[in-house]
Order: sequence, then structure tokens, then C-alpha cells
Amino acid sequence: MPKRIILMWMGLLGVILLVFGFLAFTQQARQNVTVPASEFISKVENGDITRVTIAGNQIHGESKGSIGYNSYVSEKEELVRALHDKRVPYEEKEPSDNSSLVGLIVKIGLAVFIAFLLLKMIKGAGANNTMLKQQTSHKAKLFDQLEKKTFADVAGVDEAVEECRDFVTSLKDPTKFAKLGGRSPKGILLVGPPGNGKTLLARAIAGEAGVPFFAGSASAFVEMFVGVGASRVRDLFDHAKKHMPCIVFIDEIDAVGKTRSGHTGPGAHEEREQTLNQLLVEMDGFEPNKGILVIAATNRPETLDKALTRSGRLDRTVVVPPPDVRGREAILRVHARDKKMAPNVDYTAVALGTAGLVGADLEMLLNEAAIDAAKRGQNEISTEDIERAKEKVFMGPERKSAVLSAKTKEIIAWHEAGHAIVGWFTHEAHTPHRVTIIPRGMALGLTWFLPAEDVVLRSRKELLADIKVAFGGRAAEKLLLQDDYTTGASNDLERASEIAERMVKNFGMGDGLGFGTFAKKEQGYGFDPSKGFSEETAVRIDAEQKRILEDCESRVLTMLTDKLDLLKQLANTLLAEETIGVDRLTAILGPRPVA
Ligand code: ADP
Ligand code: MG
Ligand code: ZN
Repeated sequence: MPKRIILMWMGLLGVILLVFGFLAFTQQARQNVTVPASEFISKVENGDITRVTIAGNQIHGESKGSIGYNSYVSEKEELVRALHDKRVPYEEKEPSDNSSLVGLIVKIGLAVFIAFLLLKMIKGAGANNTMLKQQTSHKAKLFDQLEKKTFADVAGVDEAVEECRDFVTSLKDPTKFAKLGGRSPKGILLVGPPGNGKTLLARAIAGEAGVPFFAGSASAFVEMFVGVGASRVRDLFDHAKKHMPCIVFIDEIDAVGKTRSGHTGPGAHEEREQTLNQLLVEMDGFEPNKGILVIAATNRPETLDKALTRSGRLDRTVVVPPPDVRGREAILRVHARDKKMAPNVDYTAVALGTAGLVGADLEMLLNEAAIDAAKRGQNEISTEDIERAKEKVFMGPERKSAVLSAKTKEIIAWHEAGHAIVGWFTHEAHTPHRVTIIPRGMALGLTWFLPAEDVVLRSRKELLADIKVAFGGRAAEKLLLQDDYTTGASNDLERASEIAERMVKNFGMGDGLGFGTFAKKEQGYGFDPSKGFSEETAVRIDAEQKRILEDCESRVLTMLTDKLDLLKQLANTLLAEETIGVDRLTAILGPRPVA
């Protein structure tokens, strides 16, 4: 802080000096020269002086050129005589140096004015600027006006919600814990990836407790000007203190809370540190049980400065993890509440097919589906709309502009039918769920699979099944085109090879190689040329990978040759209908044989 103030005053002083320097310079530009009285009089006598002003004993004469002369005389008689002689016009002014005094006042006034402007600018960047105040308070108000959220709006993160119920109790009755000498939590750190509902959960705590919610984003605190962040933090808390009990929410806390040794630009560094310090000051500045609960959110808790998570600050951590399949289903149902959904929508299936999506994604998914349904003039959202929205979310929009020849379409249909059939009849594979030959994003066609549950562990047979399913496309092409198959399988083959490699090298699943792993640990920066195993082992690893891949390939070719009729039928259905769901698959292929 003091460093900043010193800098500020130094800047101010610099500007004042500059102003005076400038004024002095402009005066010099008029080129006044001060000369001794004798010289002045001789200049008058020589006729160099054209006009003279006398003020007390100060005299000023203008010459024919651009130069003016100043001088001092104690005895004016000689000068006046000379002026009379040469008929130089002169005027006598009040002895006090009025004109130059006025000049001085103007100069000082100007300097003060500029200094004032500058001070205001610096203040604006730092303390108590009204505009900033309005900005923060405006934001805070805006959050007050937001739709109220409750725990019922937060789904799929039940443990986190449970932990938050305590905080609601202490906000509703800040003295409740204090009665027994307990300390209400002062600060909570919500930890989890983006879109998991951290902000939502914080708002729900406010909603449940019925208290105002003041929010700021730490990344927005840290601006270009040093001091802005600190002042915004101060404003946020000033505001909050007037509305206790309440919640102060700080999003993306890592933007200011990074460990203080980080090396970024010096300016950014100092600004962040000041903002962080201000935050710590504010958090220490109110007593516990006073009814301000600070909630901060981050997805990178490991980068946070220890000072932030110390006792009495953000000392409670609530993890908001990505939802599992049941969580995703619950989230879908929450967001389905305010939409016109068809009664037969299978939320479980949608949840199974959206592994990896978080709350925000699922909300977007249903929103896309709603928009799509409205565009089609439907009056409710069907499973089909959700499936299409899913394809869009995962694969990008339909490439309607892609004009494909009949031959290309046929190859794509066979290729996808191959994947689907191998998946359908391979026990350990996930269930083929939807097949489409509408190009989307980079894909020309796609077969979707649904796992029976969220994938946690994969067994050896499941990995082999993945390889077989991946080979299904190329194998079908081979049956259709014999030796003139296409590049369409390149991703499939890449994936299959990778699985085989990892089976042998990482998972100890290669026959005859024992339980050893042969994967290089990708650590550090340097490249360690030693493989960690002999050439002989390397040869066996290669051979084992090759064997796995060849074995899968021949099995897939045999399977599809056996089911050539079904393959043809499925491909033709795809050509006609472009997209088929699990119901049509069952109709064509028969019930899926279960493992
Ligand atoms: P975060 O703060 O973790 O990045 P948000 O709370 O901003 O995530 O989530 C954005 C939106 O996604 C929420 O407003 C909500 O509509 C939806 N959402 C996220 N998580 C959930 C959840 N667990 N339950 C219901 N909706 C969720
Ligand atoms: Mg958020
Ligand atoms: Zn394929």
C-alpha cells in the first residue's frame, strides 16, 4: 500500500514540475532578456526599444525584433529623459507587480487543476470511485433480482448439497452455533470442474436461507489498473455488510488466489496480490457468527494460496464432482420440469448416453432439443429430439451442405451397419443405440452405443469387443467392395491399434508376457532413450499386438459374412431412413443376445 501511495505522489509531483517547466518555456518563447539598467538606457538611446512599460522600478521594453528587455532602475529620471529624447512611448503602471502576480496565480491555479484531475484519475483506478461503486452495486443488485434457486434445483451432487445444509442453518440463525461456543463457518470453497453447478449451489444456499446474494468474479476484479481489484472487493463487502446476513460469492477465486510466487507480468502480479490481500483483510474484518458467509468457487484448488484456505477464512471445502449416470438423470429431470416433455422420454437412456457431460451441458442439451422441437412445429419434446440434440452437442451440427454421391452413401451405410451388427452380436460390446448416416462435424456417419452403466473398469473381453466393433466398419466395406475399400475406417483402425497396444503394454493383457507392463512413463521433459525392456521382449510385444488385432479382424469378417443378409438389410434401411434407433435395430436384427 505505502509503495503505491509514494508512487502516486511522485507521479503528481512530476506532473506539477512539468506544468511549471512548460509555462516557463512558453515565457521563454517570448524571449525576454533581462539586462542591466545602463544597457537598457543605451538601447533606448540607440533606438532599439520601441515601447516601454514602467511598473515601480521594473521596466519592460519591446524591441523592433521579437526580443523584449527587462530591467530594474532605482532612478527613473535618466530613463524617462532618454525615452523623451527618443520619443519612445511609455506607460507607467502601479508599482506593485500586478501583471506578473496574476500570471503566477494563473500558473498555480492551472497546476492545481491538473493535479486535481490526475488525483481523480488515480483515485478512480483505486479507491472509492463512484462509477465503480455503481458498477459493483449494480451487479450485486442484479443477483438479488435473479430467480431464486433452492436445493431442489441442484441435482446429482447430493453429498455436496447435504454438506451445505449446515451453512443454511447458520445463516438463518447466526447465533445458533455460537450459543454452544461453536463458530459458524465463515467461508466455503466450492471445488469442481466448470458447469457442475458451483454457482448454482451457492445461489441455492442463499435461496434456502432466504438471504441476499452478492457476487463477484475474481477474474473481473483483476483489471488493468493496480488497485481496482482491491477496491471492488472492498465495495462488494461494504455492500454485503449493509445486508447481513447474506452471502458473498466469489467466482473463479484462483484468478486472484494463486500462490503468490507465480511469475507473470509484474503489474498483473501486484494487482492480483493486492486484490487477494484485500480479500483476506475483508474476511478477517468481520466477526464469525455475524452473518456473512463467503463462498468461493474454483476448479483449480491446488493453485490457491494457503492463506486463503487457512482456518477462519475459506476453511470448509465442498467438492462438486461431475455427475455419474444417476446424477445426470436427476439433472435432466430438473431441467425437464419447466419444459414440455413427451411423457415417454427415457431419461435413464439419455443419462447413459451422456457420459462426460456436466450439469451445464445437460441443460444445454435439453434446450437444444426444445429449440429443435419447436422448429419442427411439435408441441412436445420427444426422445428423438434429445437424440438429435445429443448428436449436435457431441459431433457438431448436421452438414446439410455435404452432397454425397449415391455410391458414397451406400458405402457409408454399409460401414455403419457393420459397426452396428458387430456391436449387436458381440456380447461384451455396449448396446448399439442409434445409427445415422447424416454427416455431422467431421463424421460421415455414426453408430452410438449405450453402456449398461457408467464405465469404471473395463475387462479384457470388453476391450477386445471394442476392437471388434471398431473393425466392423472396414469389414463391412470389404464385403461390399472386396479389395477396393475406402479411407473411411482410418479413425476406427487407429482406435483399435491403440487399444491393442495399451492392452499389451499397459494392462498386462498380452499372452505370454506375464503381468509386466512395458509402457514408458511420460514424465519430465527429457527423453530417456532406454526402453526398459530388451529387443527380444519388444519383438514379442509387437507380435502379441499383431496377434490380437488379426484375431479380432478374422472373427469380425467371419461374423459379418455369416450375417451378410442382415448387413444388407440394415444398410438398405439406413439408406432409406438415414437414422434408426434402437427399436428399429431390434426389429431388423432381433432381440440382442445378452451375455
Ligand atoms: P459452475 O459454477 O460450476 O461452473 P454453474 O452453476 O454456473 O456451474 O452451472 C451452470 C448451469 O448449469 C446452472 O445454472 C444450471 O442450470 C446447470 N447446472 C449445472 N449443474 C447442475 C446441477 N448439479 N443440477 C442442475 N443444474 C445444473
Ligand atoms: Mg460458475
Ligand atoms: Zn467407422
